Amino acid sequence: MTQSETTPHPSRRWAITRALGLTVLVAPGVAVGGASAFAWPKGASGAVSLTYDDGLDSQLDYAVPQLQASGFKATFFLVQENMEARLDDWVKVGQLGHEIGDHTENHPCGLASYSGSSFEARQISPMERFLDAHFGRSRPRSYAYPCGYIGLGRGTPRDRIGRYAQVVGRDFMAARTTVGAPIDPRRAWAERTHLPGFEPTYDVDDPSLAYAYLQSALKNGAWAILIFHDIMPRRMGEGGTSVAVHQKILDYIAAQPLWCAPMGEVFQRVTQRT
Ligand SMILES: [Zn+2]
Repeated sequence: MTQSETTPHPSRRWAITRALGLTVLVAPGVAVGGASAFAWPKGASGAVSLTYDDGLDSQLDYAVPQLQASGFKATFFLVQENMEARLDDWVKVGQLGHEIGDHTENHPCGLASYSGSSFEARQISPMERFLDAHFGRSRPRSYAYPCGYIGLGRGTPRDRIGRYAQVVGRDFMAARTTVGAPIDPRRAWAERTHLPGFEPTYDVDDPSLAYAYLQSALKNGAWAILIFHDIMPRRMGEGGTSVAVHQKILDYIAAQPLWCAPMGEVFQRVTQRT
């Protein structure tokens, strides 16, 4: 029997968590559901996955060395056309034990013209073949939605979200969105095509939103997935993070009772049925 089957009203609690996630993400101090009974590895009180999108050069030049120095393994969601020029460097990142995930062939943000099968044929299958060829046929693989858009093709939001989730659920173990509070690990399987993520430095180069999000995960025994793009000596604009702030976030994680592991590893751990 899983934990969720022994917990009263898990779906109601999740609805509350989702509602918080869609508004201000997390209000520090707001307890959602109380302490989890989920047993995280190494006696941790919560988990965090660090994810880096788009296969950007600055991630190779700054983020990877910082991660290596901190001893953390992360997930890199690659886009083929962004990273091919430094393919050898990315292969080394995979060999260091970081997870290599799929962020499509060329990062489309306009998705209305796609059907489920044309999206697979043009964005997913070629990228999967490319990743298989250069990073090994690692299965199952994780996915991140380009631009955070979770609808595909035309129709009602329900049609579009359902169509995309069907494709993603067929081709990947788990998929990360760009919105939501840290997830109760007992809900990860049910939400595997829409795992919540949060980009703490999207609007401002400051670590405090990351700290609050991580504190929420700790308070609730939950799994936080952080999202980053460029990591540069100085923030270069929206979505960018300075090396100094990135380091502060890594140091903060190291000082908390958090289990830090790649998204796919945490997903497999929390969905293990024992
Ligand atoms: Zn992206």
